[in-house]
Amino acid sequence: MRFRAAFRVCESRNRAQLLLQPQASRSFSQLPINSQRPSFGIAFDIDGVVLRGRVPIGGSPQALRRLYGDSGALKVPFLFLTNGGGVPETRRATELSELLGVHILPSQVVQGHSPFKTLLKRFENELIIATGKGEPAVVMSEYGFKKVLSLDEYASYFENIDPVSQYKLWTTKQESGNGSDPKKLVPKYNATSDRVKAAFVVSDPVDWGRDIQVLCDILRSGGLPGHKNTQQPPLYFAADDLEYQAAFPFERLGMGAFRIALESVFNRIHCNALEYVSFGKPNPFVFKNAEAILRQLQSSCNDNAIDNGDVGSNPFKTIYMIGDNPLVDIKGARQAGHPWFSILTRTGVFRGKDNHAEFPADLVVDTVEEAVDYILTEESTS
Ligand SMILES: [Mg+2]
Repeated sequence: MRFRAAFRVCESRNRAQLLLQPQASRSFSQLPINSQRPSFGIAFDIDGVVLRGRVPIGGSPQALRRLYGDSGALKVPFLFLTNGGGVPETRRATELSELLGVHILPSQVVQGHSPFKTLLKRFENELIIATGKGEPAVVMSEYGFKKVLSLDEYASYFENIDPVSQYKLWTTKQESGNGSDPKKLVPKYNATSDRVKAAFVVSDPVDWGRDIQVLCDILRSGGLPGHKNTQQPPLYFAADDLEYQAAFPFERLGMGAFRIALESVFNRIHCNALEYVSFGKPNPFVFKNAEAILRQLQSSCNDNAIDNGDVGSNPFKTIYMIGDNPLVDIKGARQAGHPWFSILTRTGVFRGKDNHAEFPADLVVDTVEEAVDYILTEESTS
């Protein structure tokens, strides 16, 4: 059953599941924000909600512009809560600003690997390995880790560790392009004699076969390929998405798929089962962390924005999670409970006509623009 706009306010407060009409009848005009109303914040997923690949979708630029005042100051505390990553938050913020046409602060970008910062104390001066697309080692170095090697670099110190590397045209091209000979590289941090103390899958791995091989070497040897030690070093994943929406029309295999592949192989060749920790949505930690960051952003919002003079000191009455993946975004918001309110868009992984059967959202809309329109209407009248 579908409800019209008039039913939304009272129903949503009871956390009923709502479905907006595919074509919302109201205009997306600038609605006034009631200065007496309770505070709220918004968390946007990126892939499949505001972007598909590098292309804005669902009216995201105009929707985001409504969260800023005429002067360009942030009016509504919001952040991006994505399981993606591979570049430092500073760079991702610049990229998002360019693509979406609003000024995004690095503190508004929470990526799958952002929680790795919390492990700094434990591994700050230890040899660690980082893998995935983009610049995983740069990400970890920016968090403060002192002895980080990308898996690319680490593998290059071990001759023939990847028995099919000569067939990988991109590797051959890269090596001949920059003139470096892996056999002549001087290993950093005594990488060929020191044990790796932890491995981090920062973003989606590029070369699954090589990464599975080298990670198995590290993990089953106690951190030094070829040596005997059954103590597995800790392994951390930035996320556990089985699939995600990228530029291709159909979902792509994500980090969760890589984890399954690695785990399946490792458990066949090692006496003990693989041990690991996955961050990212739907992990409740991620939602708690996002709430804390939104509180900080709330205090930087301008005076006529979101609460009545008690800026930053009131707990949020509602935090809206806008996502496209029921198993990740909606499940996470539901598990987090109050004050989270989940909104599912149809621009990414979820394409259903009604709500998701297993993890139904509090509200289902076509686009992120409809979601923001709903939120601003709701918050201006409550
Ligand atoms: Mg998504």
